[in-house]
Amino acid sequence: MTAPIILSKSMDLAVIQGAFTQNVVPTYGRFPLAFTHGSGSYVWDVSGRKYLDLGGGIAVNSLGHAHPEITDALVEQSRKLLHVSNLYYTESQARLAEQISGLIAPGKVFFCNSGAEANEGLYKVARKFGHDQGRFEILTALNSFHGRTLGGISATGQDKVKKGFEPMVPGFRHVPYNDLEAMRSAISPATAAILIEGIQGETGITPATPEYLLGLRALCDEKNLLLLIDSVQCGHFRTGCFQSYQRILEGVPGCESFLPDGISMAKSLGGGFPIGAFWLRNPHGGLLTAGTHGTTFGGNPLGCAVALRILDVIHRDHLHQNARELGGWIKDQLSQLVHNHPTVLKTVRGFGLMIGLELQPHIPAFRHDDKSVAIQFINKLHDLGVLTIPSGTNIVRLLPALNLKKSEAEEGLEKIASLLPSLLQ
Ligand SMILES: *Cc1c(COP(=O)(O)O)cnc(C)c1O
Repeated sequence: MTAPIILSKSMDLAVIQGAFTQNVVPTYGRFPLAFTHGSGSYVWDVSGRKYLDLGGGIAVNSLGHAHPEITDALVEQSRKLLHVSNLYYTESQARLAEQISGLIAPGKVFFCNSGAEANEGLYKVARKFGHDQGRFEILTALNSFHGRTLGGISATGQDKVKKGFEPMVPGFRHVPYNDLEAMRSAISPATAAILIEGIQGETGITPATPEYLLGLRALCDEKNLLLLIDSVQCGHFRTGCFQSYQRILEGVPGCESFLPDGISMAKSLGGGFPIGAFWLRNPHGGLLTAGTHGTTFGGNPLGCAVALRILDVIHRDHLHQNARELGGWIKDQLSQLVHNHPTVLKTVRGFGLMIGLELQPHIPAFRHDDKSVAIQFINKLHDLGVLTIPSGTNIVRLLPALNLKKSEAEEGLEKIASLLPSLLQ
């Protein structure tokens, strides 16, 4: 047996990387950065260097780092009760379910621990829904992302996540996103549900169009299919509304009656504490009866206390407004940069604080390296002290905390702008 590594302040990046190489399953391509602590939208690495975090832990840190009210909720709840199991009732789970339905529509909520697991629940709901007619198939979109479990990679419309893990779970087929006719023609007698992201996140921030959402609802009503929305990344007020479809459909005729049958969520729900959930519209909540689904940790008092506190802070501090207004401003500023640097930047997409900056596929300064342009661009931003998230080969995502400040957004934009002239050679 080797001596345990003592994690101390003096453990530098190379030592940590060495320990990862030896001990951690190498499923991630990690950037050469190791962080020790954070505060708001800033994080510090092991060498004491400060970074502006515009990636938000991939849309998770809804209130930024070390938010004192999240800490209070964790401490207060942990002094009372961490966990009792779902054999019993707790007030915090009841209140969180009530709040989530209050933000969507009357329905029922199931709690779990991650986004993939929330989607797994939706697959089971779809199977149960179609079971008596022999229907089991779920149609999803190309370029979607639904998580890394076996069901998740089967549902995901990207070959790269499936490679080497075949055979896939049967019953998933993929069609082009935002293409209503493709969806209509893909429906078979075995189809039970359609699952899409409100805004495709992992493949470059592509929102569903209003016509697509309304068309899918009508199609599902016509064919008796469930309309399921994976809201793991685009939900929780990131777009300015609790749900991205609420934002996308704002002011669109017919939007008042739009409601999906099921919605999965995770990421920002717990602000960094692992919690996932899915909501089902009435009466579909009744499809999963006692003994048909479960998870040990789901909806435990600690996770629910944190999620409840986050919702309180979002409402009290009008963070949905902040996401909408500051996000809109950032997008406008980035559009200006796109306009001024068309040989480096291609376009900007998204709603609120879910923004995708698409780079040109061939940027002169990046031609000598085989790393994708997104990774090279992000590495340059790291040198300037800014964290962002890659998406595909040439998209940079901004998924910052919902309480990002204007001054912080300005700092990030200045640093992005300062990089552009040097990329032309
Ligand atoms: C992140 C993500 C998931 C998977 O969530 P995990 O918590 O990583 O399991 C599923 N769907 C979407 C849209 C996501 O962005």
